[in-house]
Parts: sequence; C-alpha cells; structure tokens
Amino acid sequence: MSIFHDEIEIEDFEYDEDSDTYFYPCPCGDQFQIATEELQDGEDIARCPSCSLIIRVIYDPVSGMK
Ligand SMILES: [Zn+2]
Repeated sequence: MSIFHDEIEIEDFEYDEDSDTYFYPCPCGDQFQIATEELQDGEDIARCPSCSLIIRVIYDPVSGMK
C-alpha cells in the first residue's frame, strides 16, 4: 500500500465552491486536492498534482448519525 504523507481532517481543508473541491497546502508549494464527489464515492486520498505525495482525508459521511 501507499505511504501517506499525513492524515488530515476534512475540516482542516479549504473548500472551493466553484470547483466543489477541498484543498490543503502541500509542502512542495502546490495543494493537495479532493473533490466532494470523490469523498461521497468513498475516496479518502487527496493528491498533489505537482509531486508524488498523498494524504489521507479523515472524513466520516455518517458522522452524527450514530
Ligand atoms: Zn506537492
């Protein structure tokens, strides 16, 4: 399996309404990104388009329903 650079809670991401995507700063100067649609599909890996780093998104779609 891949080694995650970090694990970040979705609350710590910056949300962009226009692209419906969450962003988080990458050490390389670019940004990790994951779309809301991907999260809803169960995807939890945000990727940086400029380097090979990936981070795991801490996201619980059923949070508060238990
Ligand atoms: Zn990067």
